[in-house]
Amino acid sequence: MTTDTQTHRFEAEVQDLMRLMIHSLYTEKDIFLRELISNASDACDKRRIEALTDATVLPEGTDLGIVLSVDAEARTLSVSDNGIGMSREDLVENLGTIARSGTRAFLEQLKSKDSGNAADLIGQFGVGFYSAFMVADEVEVISRRAGADNAWRWCSRADGTYTVEAAERDEVGTTVTLHMKPAAVGEDADGEPDFLQDWTLGSTVKRHSDFVEHPITLGYKTLNSRKPLWSRPAKEVTAEEHADFYRHLAYDMEPPAKVVHVKAEVPVEFTALLYIPKGKRPDFLEAGTPTSKIALYVRRVLIMADCSDLLPPWLRFVRGVVECPDLPLNVSRQTLQANPITRRIQKHLVSKVLGALGELLAEDRASYGVFFEHHGRMLKEGVYQGADDDNRLSRLCLFARSNGPETTTLPEYVERMVEGQEAIWTLAGMDRATAAASPHLEAFRAKGVEVLLMTDSVDEWMLQRLSEFEGTPLQAADQGEVDLGTEEEKAARAAKCEGHEDLLTALQAALDAHVSEVRFSSRLKDSAAVLVNAEGGASAAMERLMRDIHGSEMPTSKRILELNPDHPVVAYLEGRRATAEGLADAAQLLYGQALVAEGSPVPDPAAFARLVTELLVGRTN
Ligand code: ADP
Repeated sequence: MTTDTQTHRFEAEVQDLMRLMIHSLYTEKDIFLRELISNASDACDKRRIEALTDATVLPEGTDLGIVLSVDAEARTLSVSDNGIGMSREDLVENLGTIARSGTRAFLEQLKSKDSGNAADLIGQFGVGFYSAFMVADEVEVISRRAGADNAWRWCSRADGTYTVEAAERDEVGTTVTLHMKPAAVGEDADGEPDFLQDWTLGSTVKRHSDFVEHPITLGYKTLNSRKPLWSRPAKEVTAEEHADFYRHLAYDMEPPAKVVHVKAEVPVEFTALLYIPKGKRPDFLEAGTPTSKIALYVRRVLIMADCSDLLPPWLRFVRGVVECPDLPLNVSRQTLQANPITRRIQKHLVSKVLGALGELLAEDRASYGVFFEHHGRMLKEGVYQGADDDNRLSRLCLFARSNGPETTTLPEYVERMVEGQEAIWTLAGMDRATAAASPHLEAFRAKGVEVLLMTDSVDEWMLQRLSEFEGTPLQAADQGEVDLGTEEEKAARAAKCEGHEDLLTALQAALDAHVSEVRFSSRLKDSAAVLVNAEGGASAAMERLMRDIHGSEMPTSKRILELNPDHPVVAYLEGRRATAEGLADAAQLLYGQALVAEGSPVPDPAAFARLVTELLVGRTN
């Protein structure tokens, strides 16, 4: 082991980040303290968690905590903890590089924002430590890892490099010492807080770190009240406290859309404080397995920061805390999964979260709309995974609709169903505009029947499972025979179709490679032709989805080409059938335009384009 001082270069991204911290951010400087305290508190938690499996990590009688100290003469502020500490490698890895891809995404976002918003972004991506350079021109970290006898000193003046060398530290833990920048004087001093003053530190801790579980002391005074929010009576917790706590849990600067505070006694005693986010959260940028993440406490002790067994994966947008006194302190992920207590808590929480979402939907449609836009896919996933037996989940889904720009819920749709309408009609499409323009909607529009437009890839999966909603069947508008007409209308159409049997047979022969049948349609008003799925067959959207997953070798099933008996194209085709040139090109055009109209690719685009061009210059007429 070397005891020499070694000089390292920061990774380029860290340098970018530090430059931004120093030069672009002038507001909300006090967040640096929140970030350092949060790191110190996490380190204390880590030491306690490690001690669960190795008791020597935390000798009996050691009280974990965070100590602030000021040296007014030297103009330094230190944040000291007796948490897990860092080894030499930890210091280099954690304070010299940006390990996570989320931070890079953060940098991109930061560069594109004005500095005011940028301050809000700090901490969301875990770049907290470097915020120290907003107030300090030199930062020194002395740390000793639990289990190690020696300590290390890390130091940087934000000049692109840092040094690491051996140091002394009596106890396990970390001390971060900030050499504060010279105080601004005169006009510049306007409103600048002085972080070497006790009262500034006290009020900053109170504002941002009051819920931190470990005591934060300055001199002999404990600055934070420490009482965990979830253990307090729900009525006493303010919206601001919730927003602070939620930000700490989820790195989300926006306050939550909804708070779920549960205290249950039977059949299992537990307390839960859960938050439903408003919009998109930056941590969703981080890839990984889709599991829920809830912090689990047993008798005030954090056991797991991201427990995945307390909520199903399709509620992974929820962040929060569960405290359950009945679980053993040394509970592991495996035993937790098998524990009946976990299952009971999960059931209870699912019901509460769905209840809260129902409230939000009823109280504030606009906010719910924003929530659903970002997280609704997960609810639909829940339907697909079989969690919707009672339709509680499908009631919460919003859909685009054919009769208006606003979204609708299924109960609202059922409300608007016209007389004689027996099904909830759906149409899958690549996007709202294509679906809304689909020829499949013509007959529905004419009759005033609304169709739900399913444009999310997860919709197709959901529909596999959601075949009826509270007794009303869901039916695809582009599948099987659809006839919304009256008896007279049906008779009139049957008369029009008469005598064209040979045309259908000829078209069928010309398109045999592509379609299973050519027949007259009862669903068209203006379009010449449309492709439909056989009853029970997969929809075009589902087939596209399967091909995305399984590759192009997925067979496409042949569909049915329906011809509009009211359209002049029938007379034209009859005319063509009589000529020597025959129907072949016209049939290809008819088939190709039906594909284009629904947003599907044509099998031979070049050939199709040639036919269209010939039509343009009048050769086929
Ligand atoms: P974040 O805390 O979001 O991970 P930071 O840049 O603030 O990002 O810290 C980077 C890492 O440095 C932390 O994840 C942690 O591993 C380590 N670290 C920071 N401060 C401490 C501390 N006081 N004790 C132990 N480790 C720390």
